[in-house]
Amino acid sequence: MVGAAMARPVPAASPRRITILGATGSIGASTLSVVRDHPEAFVIEAVTANASGTELARIARACGARVAVVADKAAYADLKAALAGTGVEAAAGEDALVEAATRPVDMVVAAIVGAAGLAPTYAALSAGIPLALANKECMVSAGDLFVAAARRSGAPMLPVDSEHNAIFELLRDRPRASVAHVTITASGGPFRTWSLKRMAAATAAEAVRHPNWSMGRKISVDSATLMNKGLELIEAHHLFALPSSHLDVLIHPQSIVHGLVALTDGYVLACLSLPDMRTAIARCLSWPAESRRQAERPLDLSAIGTLEFAAPDAVRFPALGLARAALEEGGRATNIMNAANEIAVESFLAGRIGFLEIARIVEQTLDRASAEIRGAPASIEEAVALDREARRIASGLVLPAPGAARGTNA
Ligand code: NAD
Ligand code: MG
Repeated sequence: MVGAAMARPVPAASPRRITILGATGSIGASTLSVVRDHPEAFVIEAVTANASGTELARIARACGARVAVVADKAAYADLKAALAGTGVEAAAGEDALVEAATRPVDMVVAAIVGAAGLAPTYAALSAGIPLALANKECMVSAGDLFVAAARRSGAPMLPVDSEHNAIFELLRDRPRASVAHVTITASGGPFRTWSLKRMAAATAAEAVRHPNWSMGRKISVDSATLMNKGLELIEAHHLFALPSSHLDVLIHPQSIVHGLVALTDGYVLACLSLPDMRTAIARCLSWPAESRRQAERPLDLSAIGTLEFAAPDAVRFPALGLARAALEEGGRATNIMNAANEIAVESFLAGRIGFLEIARIVEQTLDRASAEIRGAPASIEEAVALDREARRIASGLVLPAPGAARGTNA
């Protein structure tokens, strides 16, 4: 397994110094909430965001960060103005983001969305900084490279994703030969019971209305297509060094059971909790010690009553099959698939394409790039370049059908 078993750098006991990449997002907010609850345990070094300078400045002041960085240079003026007189250092641009990610800290929370997080997250890991990894697209675009970097630097990659955090707990120190199978669960998203016809007309507002989790818009759409679970299969493959044949997805609408580990003797271990990302985040921030977080309420299974499970529907949710095939193809295919998905989701959110077009664009991009999909990118620069090329191909496939301008989507 990547991380715990082979990790050398164990973060300082207390207080731990933490940098949050993607501090203005949903995972960023949940991380800040955990840090606020435990000021004795965690202090913030740097916070970053894409383009919301004023919002990032507010966060930096509130959490006492030393440094605040926006990726988009156009947002620098706002950031700088809002930090005037505070002593918080402001910076902007991709290089500044990498610099922020590699400041000496005990842990970096990787919570940028998409392949935009590749360079800073990889830089932090390569510098030997333990990662609390939410940015699953890093694993999908360049999983082999991240695993190799973790091995080289000795820094652990601790999974924030709830399913992977659950599996990480269940696998702890367990002899690998005793593990027969690993299953991650999926809520099924807002369209779990919808017909294909109804899904074809789904709006962005409907797609981002997740039944159990409140998350950023991109991952919410990924949850609606089930691509999120496809990305998570690939993430699990890399994090736990398991082949596709040992990994499965189970639809579980209540989102109470997050992961299952089947042992060869027939025992199946499950990890249950109420859906709240702060549980997994707090576990990562405290690792290898137990989390100090006090759950707001206990999990009351008698109140929940029923836990349901079902196999995913491959016809209504083709993205999951595309991700499985890409995983089996290798790192170039998963990189291309991720890039195409990002373009397709963006286009859907902007009202340029319908919901079912997302999987079509991913599939067609993979077909177009099929000559290139063997093997894996050999460097992070190659991974970024492949991602750009796949985005170009996918963008060319975003052809709105006549009359398909979905004003209601935006
Ligand atoms: P979000 O959209 O709420 O936040 C994304 C963050 O990334 C923001 O701070 C944004 O400013 C920053 N960002 C976006 N584009 C950027 C760019 N080009 N350069 C630099 N920074 C950029 O997303 P989220 O829901 O917090 O998800 C973050 C990551 O965590 C995703 O990879 C997601 O799949 C994963 N994740 C999220 C959840 C969840 O509950 N939200 C659960 C599991 C995993
Ligand atoms: Mg998840």
